[in-house]
Amino acid sequence: MDYRSELEISFREALNNNCLNVLYQPQVDMRTEEPKGAEALVRWKKEDGTVLSPAYFVPALEKMGLTTLLDEAVIGIVCRDICEAKQNGFPFSPVSVNLSRLHAVRRNAAKSFREIAERCGVERPELSFEITETAAQTEDGTEEVSETNEEDKKMMLLAGALKGEGYRIAMDDYGMGSSTLKLLQEVPFDILKLDRYFVRRIGDPRTDIILASTIGMAGALGMEVIAEGVETEKQIRFLLDHRCRYGQGYYYSGPLPKEEYIRWRLEYEKDV
Ligand code: C2E
Ligand code: MG
Ligand code: MG
Ligand code: MG
Repeated sequence: MDYRSELEISFREALNNNCLNVLYQPQVDMRTEEPKGAEALVRWKKEDGTVLSPAYFVPALEKMGLTTLLDEAVIGIVCRDICEAKQNGFPFSPVSVNLSRLHAVRRNAAKSFREIAERCGVERPELSFEITETAAQTEDGTEEVSETNEEDKKMMLLAGALKGEGYRIAMDDYGMGSSTLKLLQEVPFDILKLDRYFVRRIGDPRTDIILASTIGMAGALGMEVIAEGVETEKQIRFLLDHRCRYGQGYYYSGPLPKEEYIRWRLEYEKDV
């Protein structure tokens, strides 16, 4: 048996046995530390107790064209968690879910996401989607399409379809792709997420210039900006000084199990 089919079999088993865990990382308004929402981050818990990071298994699933399964499973879990919290009267939404770019080649993906959400009674403003541009293969994993116009077009179609279904969309990992400006020009993203790569380098003169002008551009385009990987007060000061209002990172909190995320939300409500 080759590596591929072994991974595919164990991933399908993991789906059936509820071995995917979703953690929630708080996103905050850095001016007030008021909760803005959370990003859903998936983990794969193996039988032997080890936990696989998405940075390791998502690219592998992408190569095999299995991310549709993953993303729909994550959306299902997130919608159930939102619904359960609502029924118990706990604060929870909005939650943003990462999408693999391979959805761009699958028709009706946006509609099927909306159907999953509707089955759980999750409203449009409670769910949003993060789109990156790192994946570069077709759904069946055969053909490299990298950054072709074709791929960009499909990506824009997906983004447009999600907006058409009434969802907010975020451009994830901004600055790390090769055609982000073109995508920004064509797609009315609601949110721009500054990649941790740049946030970590705040203080370097060239980085500071790039960040200042990127935040300015996003604001002029009417987008909200969320900084990823915020870890220090110095970073927060720089970001707020340059009108980046929202942040996510270990300074505030790492990704949390849903119960702890609810506790974090309640803690804030208690303090105000
Ligand atoms: P991402 O969307 O850019 O998610 C942010 C990553 O940065 C997360 O890693 C998070 O735990 C980590 N992080 C957050 N704050 C900090 C910080 O202050 N410092 C540092 N050093 N790291 C921080 P994670 O959970 O390992 O996820 C890695 C990537 O895997 C994500 O990057 C995302 O692209 C992908 N991913 C995660 N969950 C899913 C999913 O459900 N579906 C898909 N398709 N991809 C996912
Ligand atoms: Mg993300
Ligand atoms: Mg990101
Ligand atoms: Mg990132």
